[in-house]
Amino acid sequence: MLLEGKKGLILGVANKQSIAWAIAESAAREGARLIFNYQNDRFKDKVEKLAEGLEGSKTFQCDVGSDDEIAAMMKGVEGEFGELDFLVHSIAYAPTEELAGEFINTSRQGFATALEVSAYSLVAVSRAAAPLMKNGGSIITMTYLGSERVIPNYNVMGVAKAALEASVRYLANDLGPRGVRVNAISAGPIRTLAARGVGGISKMVEAHREIAPLRHATEQAEVGDTALFLLSS
Ligand code: NAD
Repeated sequence: MLLEGKKGLILGVANKQSIAWAIAESAAREGARLIFNYQNDRFKDKVEKLAEGLEGSKTFQCDVGSDDEIAAMMKGVEGEFGELDFLVHSIAYAPTEELAGEFINTSRQGFATALEVSAYSLVAVSRAAAPLMKNGGSIITMTYLGSERVIPNYNVMGVAKAALEASVRYLANDLGPRGVRVNAISAGPIRTLAARGVGGISKMVEAHREIAPLRHATEQAEVGDTALFLLSS
């Protein structure tokens, strides 16, 4: 029971395949109480149904593009839990047309959207959550190798992940003195709702299966248990 008595907020569950859901399952197995967000009405029923299966969990609506929705969610979290021990940020978005073909064709709006939703949102939710982490805590986010190397079709999302990783370092420096750790997990390619927007994702999974040290495709549960290590004290 590595997370016994701990309270966490998990952002980014869309469905059972979501990496955030695998993290939730690992955290709940080890005794954590959890609150989830759903982005909008499209995801409400699915997320609520999943959360129902975990005793004592709650859900709130929050589109991370809105400071008001972030503030309202944190108010709800404070009302339910009083404080937070960890925050999981497992959110990314870029318009589909930006995730195929040449990076040079990235539009101004596509670039701004990808960076705002996929990188700035970590800054916004960390700032909102930090006051609730009264006894220190742990923040994690999800990144991918496309931040460091050119991966075909990953395009502007690679640039967003580079910004996300730099944000992790600056946030870690700000929050470290308050006892809050900030880390990113770089997962291998996994077929999820978000990943299906990246052109050629099936080929990426196949290539990973062939050349990764374990010679198998990354599974959500493996990422869940990696998160568990970083979330535990
Ligand atoms: P997913 O589609 O299950 O999760 C993405 C989530 O982002 C969804 O729940 C969606 O609702 C949420 N989201 C998007 N825009 C939002 C907004 N404006 N406000 C609130 N929520 C918003 O896919 P996933 O693969 O589990 O993705 C989770 C994270 O893992 C992402 O950061 C992704 O880049 C990262 N990641 C995924 C892979 C992979 O291959 N699947 C690999 C490495 C990293």
